Amino acid sequence: MLFSIFLQSAHSQKTPKNVIFLIGDGMGIAQIYSGMVANGNHLELERCTYSGFSKTYSSNNFTTDSGAGGTALACGVKTKNKMIGMTPDSVAVQSILELASKNKLSTGIVVACALTHATPASYIAHQVNREMNEEIATDYLKTDIDVMIGGGRKYFEDRTDNRNLTNELKAKNYQIAYTLGDVKAISTGKLAGLLYDDQNPNMPERGTMLPDATQSAINILSNNKKGFFLMVEGSQIDWAGHDNNYKQLIKEMLDFDQTVGKALDFAKKDGNTLVIITADHETGGMTILDGKFGTDKLKVVFTSKNHSGVPVPVFAYGPGAENFSGFMENISFKGKIEKLLKLKK
Ligand code: MG
Ligand code: ZN
Repeated sequence: MLFSIFLQSAHSQKTPKNVIFLIGDGMGIAQIYSGMVANGNHLELERCTYSGFSKTYSSNNFTTDSGAGGTALACGVKTKNKMIGMTPDSVAVQSILELASKNKLSTGIVVACALTHATPASYIAHQVNREMNEEIATDYLKTDIDVMIGGGRKYFEDRTDNRNLTNELKAKNYQIAYTLGDVKAISTGKLAGLLYDDQNPNMPERGTMLPDATQSAINILSNNKKGFFLMVEGSQIDWAGHDNNYKQLIKEMLDFDQTVGKALDFAKKDGNTLVIITADHETGGMTILDGKFGTDKLKVVFTSKNHSGVPVPVFAYGPGAENFSGFMENISFKGKIEKLLKLKK
């Protein structure tokens, strides 16, 4: 009797069936706190129960770019800046998304930038340089990804090799959506949402694209009883950081946080979903010297127009969340998720 109670408690640590991995590109602690202050001292991501830090350096640089940073998060290897889904000597490495797909889980990517941009590319493509947009678009066709929603239509349709990847996607049973309305009308099957010609517009022009498309992706992917892996990126926190525009940064941060809220709502209801939130690196060397809660009137100082080398925060919620606390290497996420989802290589 006592023994069985002991066994039960030893095995009570649940493992997740689904993982939603949200990346705020360029999102350091000051970026998060600027959004929190402006939003009246509250963010959705505060609902996370575990937090930690991720060390972001790349294989050849103290300060990573989003290619090497995304590759570390997706593929579990440190590589050279600008490389996508490869080791420093150009050997392709399977991403966590590709591995989940191979294990018959449903998979998805939702981003606030072109689908071929460095962060989403790291989960699906294997190329020596992040600028190879057309080659990266082609790599989407080499996978069984179920849902992709973002910008970058021209890299699929107006190509120098005259291939029309949209037609090829249709032949692979993808439903094609060119508007957010079209995306929201779809709740099953495969979906390619090519919502903008190139990069998505910034906030507020982008509206509720990111949270709504994330909700649609969750609706579709959760049809698979085996589980799913979804990567979502708040892509333009980084761009506002490069511009040293903190008011714009707050808008992008709050849009990303609304999206985090959608993921956490689903995870709470579902009970089998692990949500992880982190960044690929910090952008702008940003700090806040003064502020007023509930307003965007902050005294912000940027020390750079580029990325910085400081660690970035990690937040986690749901079964397995306890594995994401303390100091971590950015290459540790893939292995941890692989183990928690019991994926076979
Ligand atoms: Mg990015
Ligand atoms: Zn950047």
